[in-house]
Amino acid sequence: MTLDDLKLENPYLCLDAEFYSTSTPEPLDDPYLISFNPKAAERIGLDTDAVNDSRFVSLLNGTFSLEGSRAYSMCYAGHQFGHFAGRLGDGRAINLGSINGWHLQTKGSGETLYARMADGRAALPSSIREYLMSEALFHLGIPSTRALGIIGSKTKILRSPIEYAAIVMRLSPSWVRFGTFEYFHYFKAHDKLKALAEYTIKESYPHLLDDEDRFFKFFSEVLARTAKLVALWQGVGFVHGVMNTDNMSIAGLTIDLGPYAMLDDFRYGFISNKSDRAGRYSYAEQPNVSYWNLTMLAKSLSSLIDDKRMEEKLADYGAFIYPNAYAGVMRQKLGLFKSLDNDKMLIEQLLRSLQDAYVDYTIFFRTLSRYDGDKSPLYDISMNPVAIDAWLSLYDERLSKETHTQVQRQEAMLKTNPKYILKNYMLEEAIILAKRGDFSLVETLLTLASHPYDELPEYEHFAKETPEEHKNLTFSCSS
Ligand code: AMP
Ligand code: MG
Repeated sequence: MTLDDLKLENPYLCLDAEFYSTSTPEPLDDPYLISFNPKAAERIGLDTDAVNDSRFVSLLNGTFSLEGSRAYSMCYAGHQFGHFAGRLGDGRAINLGSINGWHLQTKGSGETLYARMADGRAALPSSIREYLMSEALFHLGIPSTRALGIIGSKTKILRSPIEYAAIVMRLSPSWVRFGTFEYFHYFKAHDKLKALAEYTIKESYPHLLDDEDRFFKFFSEVLARTAKLVALWQGVGFVHGVMNTDNMSIAGLTIDLGPYAMLDDFRYGFISNKSDRAGRYSYAEQPNVSYWNLTMLAKSLSSLIDDKRMEEKLADYGAFIYPNAYAGVMRQKLGLFKSLDNDKMLIEQLLRSLQDAYVDYTIFFRTLSRYDGDKSPLYDISMNPVAIDAWLSLYDERLSKETHTQVQRQEAMLKTNPKYILKNYMLEEAIILAKRGDFSLVETLLTLASHPYDELPEYEHFAKETPEEHKNLTFSCSS
């Protein structure tokens, strides 16, 4: 389909006026294309040569509309760093409607009703970061929003330092957040909350539509999806950085990518968000915070679902829903097909050993994926080989209890443990070049993002250890 054939629907606008406000995109000056993502275009049935249609840039810039498009921003609340922040909403995101179940949204299109004195803009660096990482997570098998394209401009915005504004067109099957429920709960609009729950079930949990106990089952499934999501983040070494409840998707997706990081050397307490001094959103804390966020969601659903039942479910989350999801992810990373009682201990011991070994998290698992009893490749990548030696003996013993062959294990592990991930230093390099008008590294990283498990000899250098001076970069939210 061409841009002329795409027809948008607006299911969210069937909800009452309190759920959103209409917005008018404010175009950027001298917009230009930075990157187009053909894989996301496929999802909405858009021909990849749409990139050659000059109206594609206009679509992102808000000066060309698709048929059926209605520009609106969504209202939500949320807990930020543990405190209820009142009404937040899409301060700089404008939804255009949905197609094939994907809601199109531009981020950085100017002030909306929810902008709260901010400028409604998004800076080029953070826009490139969101554009690339959402795609990388998707191809790593981690539920995430996606992005269709990104434009830059000559519009300057006040950041420190001053930046040029950009716009990313994001796609998601749902933009409903825990914070959307919180908004209607805290403002005591219980009939609206119920309408939101019905809407969300229809959109993201349709198999529950005719179930009499659908609200409780919906809550239970949000827990299951959140557990899976956070377990996958932990498994791949992804730190979201700002897990406020307004950044938690009710559909269990990674949303609102800001000051994130992929771990370099394994540092359990790594904090990617510069503003997060206490480490509330550190790598180690993500599972705990997911639990805390779910308790906030439970609170906001108390007019719909029996509190006691939700409390029991939340206790299960901590006791086994999350731990089982995590153990499942780690077993796959370790090439363990069976589930044995001592696996939890094996995994905990591994994390301690990785921390002591000062080893790159991704390279460790990729190297382990070729393990054949020869420990030297693993020693070679560790600063402190002794630290992983004892663990490897445990691993040998554990592998002896498997019935799959070494080849089967290696094949499975190579499809689970990525060779290519987008590290912050690579993104920083792509941003520096993009500021000079060279988008080649953005394109290269988009390619790497979509081939995490493949061997790509021409890109071998992107699979190497992070240069020492570029390890553990941190980022701020104000972007
Ligand atoms: P975030 O932490 O980026 O998810 O944003 C938290 C809240 O601040 C959301 O309601 C955003 O829409 C809003 N926000 C962040 N940056 C801006 C901006 N430049 N202009 C308007 N609203 C913003
Ligand atoms: Mg947000």
